[in-house]
Amino acid sequence: MPTRTDIEHLIPAEGRAFDVIVVGGGPAGIGAAVAAARNGASTLLLEGRSFFGGVAAVAPWMPMNRLMLNGGHRGGVHDLFVAQVKAHGGHAYVEGKQNAIDGDGLDIHPDYLKLAIFELLEQNGVCYRLHSPVTDVLMDGQRVTGVVVTGKGGRQEFPASVVVDASGDGDVAHLAGAEMVEGREEDGVHMPVSLVFVLANVDTERFFAYLADQPQAFREVIEQARGEGYAVAAWYSFNQTTVPGTVGVNNGAMVDMGSINAAQAGDLTVAERLGLQVAVDTVRLARDKRIPGLEDCYLMFTGATVGVRDTRRLVGEYVLTVEDARSGPQFDDMIARKYGAIDANQLFIGEMHSGFGYPYRCLLPKEVDNLLVAGRCGSATFLGHAAGKSMGNMMELGQAAGVAAALCSAQGITPRAVDVRQVQAALRAMGVHL
Ligand SMILES: Cc1cc2nc3c(=O)[nH]c(=O)nc-3n(C[C@H](O)[C@H](O)[C@H](O)COP(=O)(O)OP(=O)(O)OC[C@H]3O[C@@H](n4cnc5c(N)ncnc54)[C@H](O)[C@@H]3O)c2cc1C
Repeated sequence: MPTRTDIEHLIPAEGRAFDVIVVGGGPAGIGAAVAAARNGASTLLLEGRSFFGGVAAVAPWMPMNRLMLNGGHRGGVHDLFVAQVKAHGGHAYVEGKQNAIDGDGLDIHPDYLKLAIFELLEQNGVCYRLHSPVTDVLMDGQRVTGVVVTGKGGRQEFPASVVVDASGDGDVAHLAGAEMVEGREEDGVHMPVSLVFVLANVDTERFFAYLADQPQAFREVIEQARGEGYAVAAWYSFNQTTVPGTVGVNNGAMVDMGSINAAQAGDLTVAERLGLQVAVDTVRLARDKRIPGLEDCYLMFTGATVGVRDTRRLVGEYVLTVEDARSGPQFDDMIARKYGAIDANQLFIGEMHSGFGYPYRCLLPKEVDNLLVAGRCGSATFLGHAAGKSMGNMMELGQAAGVAAALCSAQGITPRAVDVRQVQAALRAMGVHL
């Protein structure tokens, strides 16, 4: 059992300098921080919220897809992460669904998930701080030299040789002045921002059988309920959990809520308010309409906050496109692969070349040095990002950024100057299938 002394040395005081600072502790940030530390860098992971995990933790039992490869090892940080979750046994996880979008994943209890991430960081010597939103960057000309955290302790600076922006929202890149875009190209519309929730007292066997046998009947019930004034989501997807008699409910946010810009607190407030309405009304309608297996269900809880699928995206040295995802070109600077399907939710769903390569240049801002941008804020078109946006893929992008950042720090060079073949070699040495 860890004591305060065991972990306190990992939590830095203001001003401590690091080789690599990773901003954001979601799937991409975990991949980046662990990979950087395993490649010899003194590494700090800064997270704005009270827990690590990003969307995986705010959306309870959400399938973390593509953590594995055809049921086997994906290599690198993924294997370490999966092993750490599995070490907690059946209370921690169940195997996820298998279809074009969901696959090779685990549905993880949010608290075991948070604990497993702490353990993984500690085992790899990653320093960490929660409640530490990055609100500014330290710059020397066009070079990022560190970040500023504004929290309960006031304004605190942390210098770094290289910074990885894994904030999902691209906060660091935006603050540093890198070119960013938002939403769908033609109209700026974002993917739905959804409050995920958990239902209890469910007859799960009967409910999942009903969904499998009568998907159309379920859709008709929801449509009818909508006509009667219940708040319903654009779509629902139900996930198993580790707690008997409960199901996790992913959804497409309230019908007609409109696009939400997650960089705006006002928009997020709308999403939180209407997300709660969907959760409460789903229980009401399930009981009123006697949906098989949900007749006596309860709302157990909603996620800690709404989950955001896309905010700002970098316009980097290369912008990944949906054509790349469909054709799978050979990039000389490939540093990761994305598996699965194109999934922009109700805006677009389609097939892609599963396992297509992701170029290193997508991590590089054009105008700013000493910064790598990984995860959902990486350089891509709207559908280029939607192609394989699963958490396992985001972890792989972060992992590549972490390896590159560690190499840059060790060699005293900027990410733009790194020899990508060395990044690829280091990733292969970690067991990554490039
Ligand atoms: C509702 C919903 C359902 C989804 N369903 C699935 C699914 O079933 N399976 C799947 O694999 N994927 C799913 N996805 C997609 C997947 O969750 C995301 O693509 C993935 O989480 C992106 O990873 P990320 O690390 O880039 O960003 P995030 O997971 O968003 O993590 C970013 C982290 O950075 C932190 N942060 C942000 N700004 C700052 C700052 N300024 N300072 C410090 N920290 C900061 C955030 O608090 C957060 O912890 C879903 C997404 C949503 C929203």
